Formats: sequence, structure tokens, C-alpha cells
Amino acid sequence: MTFSRSDAADERSVLPYHSPMVSDLEAMQAALAEARKAAEAGEVPIGAAMVCRGEMIARGQNSVIRTSDPTAHAEIVALRQAARTFGNYRLGGCTLYVTLEPCAMCAGALIQSRLDRLVFAAADPKAGACGSVLSVINHPQLNHQMHVEQGILADQSGELLRSFFRDRR
Ligand code: ZN
Repeated sequence: MTFSRSDAADERSVLPYHSPMVSDLEAMQAALAEARKAAEAGEVPIGAAMVCRGEMIARGQNSVIRTSDPTAHAEIVALRQAARTFGNYRLGGCTLYVTLEPCAMCAGALIQSRLDRLVFAAADPKAGACGSVLSVINHPQLNHQMHVEQGILADQSGELLRSFFRDRR
């Protein structure tokens, strides 16, 4: 079964024509704000934001403790919200911004959503599945390929995590 680019274009057409264009930096700042909210709630500070056609359509923060849900990573929370907004699990044409390199579970979910582009801030040398530990995204034997960019607000995102764990010791 294949999914053409026109499928994604059809999904995008449901959005209003006039939409504020969100820059990569603004989207990552929104993700970082979500991460800070997670920290305030006692969760590991990781946040995400989903942008489609220049418009922010979803945000998510790590909420595994609050929801007693091991799958409630920031990326999954944002993915679910975006897919519900579209009424479609396929999110071609969208970009996900996340403050930390996705884990294997989230990388798998991003592939399932047929996401176009992933932008993450800090690398995760302990569990990152976008090249640091595993290479789930753009694995040569997997069909779906996506654009991956790294580094926007990496210092701020990494420092937020470090200070969170420092304070808990
Ligand atoms: Zn994850």
C-alpha cells in the first residue's frame, strides 16, 4: 500500500487559507515552553509542537506520571492531538518540533503518521532513536523517509533537562 503526496495535500486543504506562518524557532520555543510546564508538574521536561502549513496545530508535553501512561511522551501527545484535529492518522505535510531526540517508540509513531519533517533540539545519547543510539528514523530498510534537522535551541533544551535532574538529586 502506498500513500501519495496528493493525500497529504488533501489533508492540508482542510486548514484555513490564511494562517500565520510559524518559524522553526517559534515552534521550538513553543515546544520548550511545553517542556517547562512538564518540569513544573514534576515530569521530565520534554515538550513538542506540531506545525502544518505554517500553522501550529498541536502541542504536547511529557505527561507519563500525570496520566499513568508510559506512552504519554510529548511527541505522542502532540501526534494524537494533531491527528484528531485532521480526523486522519496521516500527517504528511506536517513538521514535529521536539526538545529532545525521540526515543524508539516515538520514532516508530512518527513513521506511522507519515510525518514529513522532524526537528529536534538536543540529542539523546542514552535513548535517541534518530541516530544517537538507534537509527529508527530513515532506517534504510524502512519505506517512509522524513527530513530530520537538529540543533535549534539544543543548549536551552539540554540545560532544562540537566537542571531538572540536578534538582532532584
Ligand atoms: Zn518517546
